[in-house]
Amino acid sequence: MIYKNSPITKTKFRNRTIYIKRDDLLDEKFSGNKARKFYYFLENDFPNIKKIISYGSAQANSLYSLSVLAKLKDLELDFYVNHISSFLKQNPKGNYKASLENGANIIEKPDYDLQEYIEKFLLDDKTLFIEEGGRVKEAEFGIKILADEIKLWAKENDIKNLKIMLPSGTGTTALFLQKNLPFEVLTVSCVGGSEYLKKQFFHLSKNDCSHPKILEMQKKYHFGKLYKEFYEVWNEIKTETNIEFDLLYDPLGFFALANSSYFEEENILYIHQGGLLGNETMIERYKRKYF
Ligand SMILES: *Cc1c(COP(=O)(O)O)cnc(C)c1O
Repeated sequence: MIYKNSPITKTKFRNRTIYIKRDDLLDEKFSGNKARKFYYFLENDFPNIKKIISYGSAQANSLYSLSVLAKLKDLELDFYVNHISSFLKQNPKGNYKASLENGANIIEKPDYDLQEYIEKFLLDDKTLFIEEGGRVKEAEFGIKILADEIKLWAKENDIKNLKIMLPSGTGTTALFLQKNLPFEVLTVSCVGGSEYLKKQFFHLSKNDCSHPKILEMQKKYHFGKLYKEFYEVWNEIKTETNIEFDLLYDPLGFFALANSSYFEEENILYIHQGGLLGNETMIERYKRKYF
């Protein structure tokens, strides 16, 4: 087993004490929230399954984590994408490169609705289909373990008025955390607006009592786009805490947190969800654009 309880660090951000759950340190290869979400598939045996099928972007954190999972379980991985830029094909980097090295088949299908295509043509009893970003009910298995680690830590350290903060893509991690924790979970929507995220929550749980609190932003940010203020806040956190966070989700996560009254009033545990392998290409893009 490659799994252990991830540490919680006490640090300061803008003169406020903040706790960080270091899921980036879970394991050298299988870490972050994708490791939590895919833990069910790591721990269970699927004797008939020969291949994992999924889809998303060619630089997705989920692509890399699935490639590690497939390797550990001795399965094939077919990962469908709409587009791989010719630059990336010629200069493999980050998640894309590491996934190829793990033996992933990254298959380009331009203009297809990938979910529909896979469901219609590719599934049989030898394949395991994992929806984009690990938006699956099995994710609760590993996220519940994360929730249990947090509960135990809060009890042992007698921490009250605790709020949990993490930025969301599909919202799967935030939702299953809220379902399994007595503390309020705060999040912000990184890939669509709050309405999109609310829909994702309903897709996984009809009961809106277990839905996390979505922090609203004044400005609309587009996923994967570069914003100077994102790089600045990412750099500020890095300098202040000595911890490197991811550049896709965490800048908005810290922005949303710092702009909310929770940051002043409550004890905050921020979940570091990994994703650092993607930073290499993000930093290069930022340097090309701004520096
Ligand atoms: C995938 C990912 C997220 C989003 O997780 P969801 O469960 O889809 O909301 C956030 N941060 C990082 C670093 C990720 O890799």
